[in-house]
Amino acid sequence: MEELSPAKWWEREGGAVRCLLCPHRCLIKDGRLGFCLVRKNVGGSLFSTNYGIVSVSTIDNIEKKPIFHFLPGSKLYSVGSFGCNLRCLYCQNYPLVEGGFDTAPYRRLPPGDLVSEAISKGADGIAWTFNEPIVWSEYVIETSRLAHDEGLYCMLNTNGYIMDRARDELLEVVDTIKVDIKGFSNKFYREVCGGSLEPVLGTCEAALERGIHIEIAYPVIHGMNDRLDEIGRFCEWVRLKLGQDTPVHFIMVHKFHRLTSHAEISFEVLEKIRLFGIQCGLNYVYVGGTTKSLAQNTNCPNCGELLVSRTGDANAEKVYYKDQQVSRFCPSHSDVRIMINGRSCPRCGRTIPIRKKSDLQK
Ligand code: SF4
Repeated sequence: MEELSPAKWWEREGGAVRCLLCPHRCLIKDGRLGFCLVRKNVGGSLFSTNYGIVSVSTIDNIEKKPIFHFLPGSKLYSVGSFGCNLRCLYCQNYPLVEGGFDTAPYRRLPPGDLVSEAISKGADGIAWTFNEPIVWSEYVIETSRLAHDEGLYCMLNTNGYIMDRARDELLEVVDTIKVDIKGFSNKFYREVCGGSLEPVLGTCEAALERGIHIEIAYPVIHGMNDRLDEIGRFCEWVRLKLGQDTPVHFIMVHKFHRLTSHAEISFEVLEKIRLFGIQCGLNYVYVGGTTKSLAQNTNCPNCGELLVSRTGDANAEKVYYKDQQVSRFCPSHSDVRIMINGRSCPRCGRTIPIRKKSDLQK
């Protein structure tokens, strides 16, 4: 049964409400939902329909997000709800995005209960993931504050598509963030994802300004966002705006959802793109969406020394929603070995920007 919680970031406009959480700025009539399907106008006020609603939860390593340079090997309690403010044609978790609540299994967890559950499972942190956490922001913010009080860190796995005011409040509670940059043009965002690029870039820069550890994933789709001029502009932007030590993950997009007839990018091309990213001046470039590549280890950009090894785990626990596996293309890593000497490469002494627990300020 639907339960409503007052939403933030909206205003009245005519006889409707204007949601100001994300750049869609939906104008929502009484009784209707916004584009994300989880914010509703009831009697001239905006409500969240997914506050405290947990659809999936599991314990996994932070590497699965993927985040490789923040507390390597630490355990996250990964949780998701319903709703998203984009509509990517290849969405691997579309039942959480497009499905309704009516027939869906879920749990209702107040913030304190979720934090207690994370602690009881031995987690070091909470990951807001699976669906888009931006459209869960009221709950994410409140629960993350409690999690910090209990010594847990908070990770946001996001599309970054959010307006400034809500973004600033959300980033206040985030320790590490992985942002998908799904292509490097507004045309791609409009046609494949139903959004636009600039707000996503703004979120990345805002996270960096706040000292939040950020990693970028670029899902590569054959023939759609894999041209080297586009990848080159993306890498140049990362280097100039976020810094050349920002980890970048080129993710293999698989045939799925509405892209089932589309040819997948080959492993060889993905590897060429990774090497191109290094040529563009990025120091830490990885391949994701597959465990077949050694490009999931961290090597010293100066001398090539192996610094962190990560071994894919084909037997990791799978997470299901109804009968559908969620996040099916994100590999788990069972064995993470860190060979860094303090914060330096043991061979050449170069400083390696990988945060450990002792670096956390919050
Ligand atoms: S958060 Fe949802 S309702 Fe609000 S503007 Fe974005 S898509 Fe529309």
